[in-house]
Amino acid sequence: MKTKTIVIVEDNELNLELAIDLLEIHGYNVLGIRSAEEALHLIARLQPDLVLMDIALPGMDGLEAAKRLKSDEKTVHIPVVVVSAHAMQGDRESAVSAGCAGYMTKPIQTRTFVQSIEKLMEEIDDLRMSSR
Ligand code: MN
Repeated sequence: MKTKTIVIVEDNELNLELAIDLLEIHGYNVLGIRSAEEALHLIARLQPDLVLMDIALPGMDGLEAAKRLKSDEKTVHIPVVVVSAHAMQGDRESAVSAGCAGYMTKPIQTRTFVQSIEKLMEEIDDLRMSSR
């Protein structure tokens, strides 16, 4: 199976490093980006299999970035999972209405993080197959 590429957009250095480490250990190609502005161009060019998008970012926030990815034909097909530090009531709904494929809360649970990501990716694949 082809190695999957995951882009993580996260401004918190410790969270970013932890997420990268955990995914790399499991064989993923991982690229960390610290701002949404930077991420948009890169995601269009790189065509990753998944984007993990922190909501609270300096400058453009993650939900706005997700909306832009979903309204661009170059990136509309790339699944975006938003990650929120606050268990804010509205975040999940906002994520769904922005066209995101999933939602996760921080802090990252070291023991279950990769498992959660893999479950999400399977669900996304299943949805794609059934909509074909
Ligand atoms: Mn943040």
